Amino acid sequence: MRGNHFSVILLPTNKCNVNCDYCFEDKTRDNMTMDRLSILIDRVFDHMERSHVGALTIYWQGGEIMTMPPRWFEQAYEVIQSAAQARKKQVQHSLQSNMIGYNKRWNKIIAEMFGNSVGTSMDYPNLHRKMFHGGPDDYTRLWYRNVQAARAAGIDLSVIAVANQGKLQINAFQVNTPFPGGEENDVKKSMPLDVDDLARFFIDLTNVWLERGYDQGVRVGPVDELLKQFIEGAGCLPCIWQKNCADEFISIDARGYVAQCDCWVTSYPEYFFGNIFESDSLTELLKNSPARQKFLDRPIVNIQQDCLECDYLSICHGGCPVRTYTFSGTLFEKDPYCHLYKSLFKHVEEVAATLAQGRATNPNWKAAGSGCGSCGASAAAPRPALVQLESSWSVSGGARLRELPVLQ
Ligand code: SF4
Ligand code: SF4
Ligand code: SF4
Repeated sequence: MRGNHFSVILLPTNKCNVNCDYCFEDKTRDNMTMDRLSILIDRVFDHMERSHVGALTIYWQGGEIMTMPPRWFEQAYEVIQSAAQARKKQVQHSLQSNMIGYNKRWNKIIAEMFGNSVGTSMDYPNLHRKMFHGGPDDYTRLWYRNVQAARAAGIDLSVIAVANQGKLQINAFQVNTPFPGGEENDVKKSMPLDVDDLARFFIDLTNVWLERGYDQGVRVGPVDELLKQFIEGAGCLPCIWQKNCADEFISIDARGYVAQCDCWVTSYPEYFFGNIFESDSLTELLKNSPARQKFLDRPIVNIQQDCLECDYLSICHGGCPVRTYTFSGTLFEKDPYCHLYKSLFKHVEEVAATLAQGRATNPNWKAAGSGCGSCGASAAAPRPALVQLESSWSVSGGARLRELPVLQ
């Protein structure tokens, strides 16, 4: 928990309606009841009170969130708002969905609870997102139909994506690095991807974005916020580059298990912090968890061991625990994508220096980037836009990025 802000990644269902090859989640049939949600919220608010924190962001994920009915969310919204009012807390909500179960009955609650905004995921070309009965093409068709319907209803969609070919007409992307969590299969055996290729991909992506998207208001995470960080020192960087993600998030699943984030709560029971329904105090649960202590210790150990001499330590802090753990079986090593990060930091730093010269000659110039709100780094009350916690990835090589159309 940092400053006046706390984030909970909440999984009210562990079910999913599709069958992606690279899914890391151990899916169960559990859904959270309204009574349990009410207990959970009280315990989260108790914890915030003890820690003198006033603002909460709930990132709603699954499983797949739209396997639950919109009516459940209408009730949940009432329960949370009335508890927040009684406790004088501010709560914001962010929704992440695969959009496969979307229909117009969702519009009301998406508008009221989520500010008419949804984060979704798609890879272009889609190779690994599949229906249970049907291939990637069926998935893509259904996703695209539902996304168009949602956009027609005024819903703003940001996408966790592999930006490749295709005219998605979407202007907010988040590109993430993969890790082989969950049960092994052929797709996960191909990980880690070649880190040199991946570094080239991100650098090409940065260049294409600067050339064709930057001035058009296109947002490509994490590059846009990284650029802002180098120019203004105020980028809203993803969790993998926070000082310590254990200060930022917890995740709670449909059974009440608490862990570091959705990646851990759905895949690694050995790293559960405890169960919120079996402890009267979330504060005590977190304080007494040996697993959480390892997350708290990780940056110090890693800095001394691997990262002390790194020029980008103050931005990266040793990277992501779950990526490290899935590749190395320990938390106490630096992130396996270290080389990619260093290359990207260096490139964006150079770009920032060039752009800053533009600022010197134009006093009205401002770095692009919105402040995603997920890390609480933006000065204003955060409006969650992009959620960076996703395993999806397939890389087709940097050269293909040259074909990326202008997206607006
Ligand atoms: S990656 Fe997400 S959408 Fe795909 S099967 Fe897993 S939980 Fe469902
Ligand atoms: S994805 Fe990595 S950095 Fe982000 S919260 Fe999970 S473990 Fe921490
Ligand atoms: S870029 Fe590599 S060496 Fe530098 S802080 Fe990150 S993980 Fe450590």
